[in-house]
Formats: sequence, structure tokens, C-alpha cells
Amino acid sequence: MTFEEIKNDEQQYMMHTYGRFQTALVSGKGAVAKGVDGKEYIDFTSGIGVNSLGYCDDGWVKAVSDQAAAIQHISNLYYSPLQTEVAKKLCELTGFDKVFLCNSGAEANECAIKTARKYSFDKYGQGRQKIITLVNSFHGRTVTTLAATGQDVFHNYFFPFTDGFEFAAANDIDDLKAHIKDDVCAVFVELIQGEGGVMPLDKSYVEAIQTICNEKDILFMVDEVQTGISRTGDFYCYQGYGVKPDVVTSAKGLGGGLPIGACLCSEKLADVMSAGTHGTTFGGNPIACAAAKEVLSRVTTPEFLAEVRAKGEYIRAELEKIGNVKEVRGRGMMIGIVTEKDNAKAVAAQCVENGLLILTAKDLLRLLPPLTITYDEINKGLGILKKVMEA
Ligand SMILES: *Cc1c(COP(=O)(O)O)cnc(C)c1O
Repeated sequence: MTFEEIKNDEQQYMMHTYGRFQTALVSGKGAVAKGVDGKEYIDFTSGIGVNSLGYCDDGWVKAVSDQAAAIQHISNLYYSPLQTEVAKKLCELTGFDKVFLCNSGAEANECAIKTARKYSFDKYGQGRQKIITLVNSFHGRTVTTLAATGQDVFHNYFFPFTDGFEFAAANDIDDLKAHIKDDVCAVFVELIQGEGGVMPLDKSYVEAIQTICNEKDILFMVDEVQTGISRTGDFYCYQGYGVKPDVVTSAKGLGGGLPIGACLCSEKLADVMSAGTHGTTFGGNPIACAAAKEVLSRVTTPEFLAEVRAKGEYIRAELEKIGNVKEVRGRGMMIGIVTEKDNAKAVAAQCVENGLLILTAKDLLRLLPPLTITYDEINKGLGILKKVMEA
């Protein structure tokens, strides 16, 4: 099939939910993807923060194919050694007490929202169900996670949305305090707003959230769907902030390319989600868990995390030297670039034409390279970006 044939079929047979870049990708290795026409692309996207180990990493391919050949799915009616290994590893790496495995970021967040409401219901009865999220946040595409998302553009068409979310201005502790009334059971934030434009929260603000939540037995919940799995140079971003949330949600990079999400909770929440209160058919699928086990065994060593931080610093320093770059922000290998000419979308499209896959978020360019990208690949990608930015 040619690219034009694929594009025509996409137009004819798929719901038009995405504006796509003008290439069809069919294979890849490391941080290089190959188009259907044989053209190669340096990858600064890792499939929106998913392919932690790059394309078709040898260890990951072996783990996944061995598991596919052993047993592909068993349902959650039986015990699975892979599920328990992944859950145990996540708890050991974080100090959390229990894990629920699911298939996506939105599902992990649904579990967090249900956990918060049930914790409060069990302990205080009805009427304490409100969850405070932040203006400009993004928490997913289900009706409830859209409701949790603090951006008006997402609150359209699909009425009625799930009730019980209020939005506080990020980095404004007084605004948060104004929203905290007797009906609040949780505060739920991204530490670096990803889709919202790579906007980090201040350390003092995050510490203040923790303090208020602890005082009032309100759950402090962190959406690490994008920031987690070593993306920011810590295994989870909260660890770099030095706080201890009650709930953390994870997905994107966890499976290195297979769908798996996780909701982690602290000891006081261990028994909240009891038998019959939550479930999933696919969640914790053995192949997805084999993939996650491989990712977790690789991206969590101190040496690996130091490499992520070093590569992130290198990329940020090199970006500062490129024309049309107005501001660079982010942490580790989660990087946002504000352009002087306010032309991120055009730059991203031009980059693809020139052999570089790159993301946008709001009116920024956004980089989420595979964590294993080499300096050689980084330099090649930055070379293309420089050429496009300075054209
Ligand atoms: C991507 C993302 C989600 C949604 O994840 P899906 O796997 O697409 O459901 C939720 N929260 C954050 C912070 C994200 O970046």
C-alpha cells in the first residue's frame, strides 16, 4: 500500500477524531521510525511518551514474544505471577501499598476518582464527594475524566458530565484554599501539566497541597500518566518534589508500547476498593505485564535515571542555542519549547517533512523522546529542528 492509499482509507473508514501528520509508520528501531515509503524519522515523541525503551528494543521484544507464546490472556478470575511481579515492583519502587492494573491513563484516573469517593463515603458518609483539580489540567477522555479536566474546551457536547469537580488555579495556594470546603474528598493534580503546555507546579505549592490535605484527611492524588516511569529523571515525578501523595496514577510509558495503566494507593486506602467495587476484563493482561516488567527492570536504576537527567539537560542546553526558541521548560526528558514566532504547529509539520517526529501541546512544541535515545540520535534530531526553526 502507498501512503496515499492508506490516507484515503483512513478518511473513508475511520472516525475523524485526529488530525494526523503526513506519514504512515510501519517499523522502527531505537529512536528511528520508518515510513511506508521507506523514509526514516528521528523520534522525539515515543508515541506520546509511551515507547520508553524506543522502538522494538531487543529485551522488550523478547519479553513480549515469549509471553505471547506462553499464555496471552487469563482474565482476572485467576492469579497471575506477572501481575503480582509488576505490582510488587511498583510498590517497592515507591512505598505505595496496593496497585490496581488497568489499560490506560483515563482508566487509572477513574480508579483514583472512585477510590477517593469511596474512601470518603466509607469514613464520613454521603456528601463529601468533591474533587479539586487544576485549571488547564488534562486527565483523559472518558466522560468522568473529561469532567475532571480543567479546560472549558473539553466540556462540550457530551452532557451531562459527571458532577463533583471544581478547578483551582495552578500555583495559587489561596485559590486552592478557597475551594476546600467540607464536601471535598481529594485534590488531584499533574505535577507538570503535559497536554496543558508543559507547565510545572512550584515545589512550595505542591508542599502546601500536601499539608492542607494531611490536615483535613483529603486525599492528595497525582496524575503521573505522562510524568511517570522515569520521564522526568525520577521514577515518579513526585519523588523529585519530595512529597508523598495518597494516590498516583500511571500509564503511557509503563508498558513501553503495550496498553497498561496502574493506580497506586497508600496503606490507609488498601481496603477501599473491595471485591465487586471495581474491575476490568483486559487490565493486567499477561503480555502487557511482561512488557511492563521489562520496562521497570530497565528504567529504574540510579544510573539510568542519571542518564535521563543528563540527556534532558543536554537537550535543553542545545535548544537554547536555536533561533526562534523563546523559552524552554520541563524536567528530565519532558520538554516544552515556546517559539518566538508562535508557529509550533507549522514547525512540527515541517519537522515531519524533514525527518523528525515531534509533538505539540497547546501552542508549544513538546519533546518526549524515548528514554533510551542516543546522543547521536539526539544531535540528528536537533539538527533537523534547528534547520526548520531557523528557516
Ligand atoms: C495521556 C494522559 C491521560 C490519558 O491517558 P489515556 O491512556 O489516553 O487514557 C491522562 N492524564 C494525563 C496527565 C495524560 O498525559
